[in-house]
Amino acid sequence: MATRSKKPTATSASAASTDAGSYLGNRVTLHYCTMRTVAPQAMPAGVADKRAKLLLLNASKWLNGSTLTYAFYNSPTNWSAPTAQKNAVRAAFAEWKALGIGLNFNEVSSVANAQIRIAFDLPAGSSSYIGTDNLTIDPAAYTMTFGWDLTTPYGHTTALHEIGHAIGFPHEHQNPKGGIVWDEPAVYASLGGPPNNWSRATTFHNIIEKISPDTVQNSSWDPNSVMHYQFEAGLILKPAKYKNGLTPKGGLSARDKTWARKFYPPLPSGAPAKMALFQSQPLKLAANQQADFQFVAPTSRSYTFRTFGTADTVLAITQATAKKGTKPGVAKMLAHDDDGGHERNSEVQVKLKKGDKVQVKVRMRFVEKAGESAVMVF
Ligand SMILES: [Zn+2]
Repeated sequence: MATRSKKPTATSASAASTDAGSYLGNRVTLHYCTMRTVAPQAMPAGVADKRAKLLLLNASKWLNGSTLTYAFYNSPTNWSAPTAQKNAVRAAFAEWKALGIGLNFNEVSSVANAQIRIAFDLPAGSSSYIGTDNLTIDPAAYTMTFGWDLTTPYGHTTALHEIGHAIGFPHEHQNPKGGIVWDEPAVYASLGGPPNNWSRATTFHNIIEKISPDTVQNSSWDPNSVMHYQFEAGLILKPAKYKNGLTPKGGLSARDKTWARKFYPPLPSGAPAKMALFQSQPLKLAANQQADFQFVAPTSRSYTFRTFGTADTVLAITQATAKKGTKPGVAKMLAHDDDGGHERNSEVQVKLKKGDKVQVKVRMRFVEKAGESAVMVF
């Protein structure tokens, strides 16, 4: 992830555009997204390179099985949009979900209750925060914007792209394995003019800067990724075949689909394994894999959940909020800890009443050898 932090206010239109016309009108095609980033997790001194790399790789990924809530603004009116535009976003969420990923998306009526707050703010262009960074944003501010018509093929790709950021994916054209050599003066000149009117800093941050290899899964470059911009002729020097421009196919590429399923695999059917008091559960997990358990409190008291071993883990305790006979609702996060980069273990305390049923989720962030860690409740 890039290291620049951007002030997360609703009005920080990082891609201020002067032609903030109707998104139902004619937009030039090459109007770009701006990726909104917060400061990355500070890595304590002495964390080994290999460990730090893996921790950066999965820093902003959601716990698998999470339900991400999203909502559209009804006011101010210049942040609301016609139904067709909202439907394009809904369809894009559904398209990601249809890959079979373990994340769920749930539209709620009020932005006050949403993790992803979507404004159709034309001057701001299209933008989104990355993955769980969304949770750190001031609840009064939006987290995702759209600045042009989403009912065109380009708009459809834009909607998929911003949701790609929201589930944790960075820009693919900044993949260092891509080895794109830019005609930098041409890139600054092009992006500095309409419709983007970007500052040099914004252009550097969104295009020229190479992302740390860790955040792109050390993978080879995918010029057809939905996370890749389209580029006009004259901006890319190398590879030479893109001197006349680069146009991704549009929509989700084969590798986008593979990655999404890798990071958020389909959820296993059936209830998770039961966790008993004082009995450690071995974690046979590789980095970025997750184990889910179920715990029913035998008595009313405060319980400690803790991981053991040298691994770096995210530990979360959630509770389903659905009432009897209703559809499963959004699980409530009761407690959450992340020992990534620290010489301690994830540990949380939760007060439960007799019979309370909770889910215990452990996501592996770094482990030397799978099978050398465990989780226990006591
Ligand atoms: Zn983007």
